[in-house]
Amino acid sequence: MIRHFISILLILAVLFAPCASQAQEQRLSQVGFFFDTVVTISAYVDSMTVLDEALEKCAGYEALLSKTVEGSDVWRINHAEGLPVEVSDETIYVLNTALNVSEISSGAFDITIAPAVSLWDFTGANNVLPNADELAQAASIVDYTKIEIDGNYVTLPAGMSIDLGGVAKGYIADQIAQFLRDSGVTSGILNFGGNVVVIGDKLGEVWRVGLQNPQQQTGQYLVVASVTDTAIVTSGIYERGFDLDGVRYHHLLDPSTGWPVQNELASVTIITHESAYADALSTAVFVMGIEKGGELINSLSGVEAVFIDRDNNIYASEGAQEIISG
Ligand code: ADP
Ligand code: MG
Repeated sequence: MIRHFISILLILAVLFAPCASQAQEQRLSQVGFFFDTVVTISAYVDSMTVLDEALEKCAGYEALLSKTVEGSDVWRINHAEGLPVEVSDETIYVLNTALNVSEISSGAFDITIAPAVSLWDFTGANNVLPNADELAQAASIVDYTKIEIDGNYVTLPAGMSIDLGGVAKGYIADQIAQFLRDSGVTSGILNFGGNVVVIGDKLGEVWRVGLQNPQQQTGQYLVVASVTDTAIVTSGIYERGFDLDGVRYHHLLDPSTGWPVQNELASVTIITHESAYADALSTAVFVMGIEKGGELINSLSGVEAVFIDRDNNIYASEGAQEIISG
């Protein structure tokens, strides 16, 4: 059904693309569904071929990094019962990015959160809470320091598991953007469910990337960031979750308890050169909250952030203030 809808969208996108002679570059878009997320790849190109190839690459990365695809690197790590598993360079890179962000966030970001994530259903289909004791038990085994990496071998203690949901889409967006650049694309924009990468500028203009208004429907923006050649990643409470008895239960979990983080924040957007890093950081900084998360952002060079709290107040780092408008 979703795929069908996407193909209709795609046809519309192509129909409404500006007319141009065949060899001339025009803005074309391709849409897919990976990692439970709508993926849109849009670029100034002279044919759809490169965009089709980009989508095929997304499927390849999903087969490598998804915890639910049997035989993926992550699936094999999670099913190794404490034995070392040989994985691809790509997986090692994502794991190292995740571990780096775990370190700098004092464990606010932790990919060994998988057992807690598995107890939740944030699809909106069944708005039920997990059993509190089971969740506490799952949270008690979350500990990224237990992940061992030696060359291309990864060892995880039996009983633990990893979930790259907070970093993989960002990584894939980086890789697809690089593929497009290598294919000669100098202007484009990719959106992997809130992980945006912009390539170059938009025919001499800046790209204007909207940051979702947390209190309104998807596509209603509170802030616009004017950027070129960068990654912009948002984590928010409105993305996946449900409301029950006046509480918002969302997919950004506190690794120490397994419960959704309840702080002043509605979303965190990170703006930096690398989408994988921005993705992990957006989750980490959300979990840390405005004060501690803000301190972390200020300590990192080349990283900017926009925080939106639950009353739609906007807090932006110094560098972010220069590129956002209301
Ligand atoms: P998305 O782009 O899918 O909305 P985010 O980048 O905001 O995802 O990260 C949320 C996802 O990361 C969750 O769906 C879950 O799989 C995982 N996750 C949740 N809490 C944490 C955490 N504290 N550390 C690492 N990963 C987390
Ligand atoms: Mg993230």
